Amino acid sequence: MSYADLIGVERARDVLVERLPAVMDHGLSFCRAVYHTTPGGGTVDVPGGLDAGLPDIRIRPDLSTIAPIPWEDGVASCVGDAFEPDGDGPCPEAPREVLRRAVARLGELGLDAVAGPELEYYVCDPDPSSPTGWRRYADATGNVYTAGRKGDPEGHLLRTLRHLRDLGLGVTMGNHEFGGGQFEINLDHSGALDAADRAFRFKAGVQEIARSEGRLATFMAKPFNDQDGSGFHVHLSCVDADGRSVFAGSHPDPSRGDDPPHPPGTASDGLSDVAHHAIAGVLEHAPALAALLNPTINSYKRFGPDSLAPWLTDWGLDNRSAMVRIPPERGEASRMEVRLGDASANPYLGIAGLIAAVYLGIRDKAVPPPPLEGYGYDAAKAPVLPGDLPTALDALAADEALADVLGEPFVTAFLTYKRDEVARFRRHVTDWEFTEYAYHL
Ligand code: GLU
Ligand code: MG
Ligand code: MG
Repeated sequence: MSYADLIGVERARDVLVERLPAVMDHGLSFCRAVYHTTPGGGTVDVPGGLDAGLPDIRIRPDLSTIAPIPWEDGVASCVGDAFEPDGDGPCPEAPREVLRRAVARLGELGLDAVAGPELEYYVCDPDPSSPTGWRRYADATGNVYTAGRKGDPEGHLLRTLRHLRDLGLGVTMGNHEFGGGQFEINLDHSGALDAADRAFRFKAGVQEIARSEGRLATFMAKPFNDQDGSGFHVHLSCVDADGRSVFAGSHPDPSRGDDPPHPPGTASDGLSDVAHHAIAGVLEHAPALAALLNPTINSYKRFGPDSLAPWLTDWGLDNRSAMVRIPPERGEASRMEVRLGDASANPYLGIAGLIAAVYLGIRDKAVPPPPLEGYGYDAAKAPVLPGDLPTALDALAADEALADVLGEPFVTAFLTYKRDEVARFRRHVTDWEFTEYAYHL
């Protein structure tokens, strides 16, 4: 029985199957410290935790998510929702709940979100001679879209794809990426909660499968200085109550009245006004969204010119150098691919943030700047994304409209947790500092 903590780590307890009826009746208790515990085991004093004496939270299974784990005999996994133990409803900082809140706000406009996650990650083999203890899998021969044993010498990607298909995650395809030992797997699009659940279980599954082979799969944003970072691209669109895309150019926007002016440069791009508002919302809130989609100190080392990761807050038509790419398909398949996020993001929070920004853009009828033409990365043409995590956290703290959608208790908990991470890092001496200074100064 598992659920995502604030930073997207899978927290779980193993429940014997004969005990499941009791768990279904009462939920399963966890210490609320789970929202306060860092991956390294440190504790952060998030409101409602230490100060409240580390009370319980209760996880109630969402049985629609139960699925046998293909690589373990006789074990199933199930995602749950976090509730206050006194029956006072869901924990406001629980990532699944934050996402539900954003979806509900979009629902006030009569719209629902459709999301398709793409995740990149590196696979490593143990190597006692390496300073980290790991070296990249397949690093000698793999490059982007190399098939077969060239990019996947030991069949690891194929095994992973089949296992994840059998887990019911809606994986469509996988490929070797630009980095040596870096892979990407694409997931079907679906409603936002289901898509985030699948992305969350995907990450946990990929890591488990690698572990069962003695390998390390990492979704950290930029694990190697000389290789590309790992993105979490999200394909996003909105549908109306009949399930029809409102991003398609022919769709009328009743709120705009007659003959709505198109944003400059977009008159014939085949997208609706609603799609342009949604794009503008994502651009406008990008600095705050970075805190959710690029949530680690390491995340900001992935950004940069000439990286296929974004650096500026721009959008473009089938342009991979833009932060928001509009893939070439139109009609019902009209969508944006937001390339901002990196793989370390908590999928629930990343998708929640994007939906919140889309909601705000549509609600406020925001208009985007003209789309990027040609190869991007010219800082004279668009605002630069936050350069580090503290800047993004400050942008999130300042973005009242976004906090109103995501919920103040969540934003406070997230900022407290992440500012503690920044403070710990600021005190820590890195290898780079030693190499740079120790011998010369
Ligand atoms: N690895 C790139 C990123 O960090 C994306 C490469 C691609 O276009 O697939 O976003
Ligand atoms: Mg990719
Ligand atoms: Mg992509």
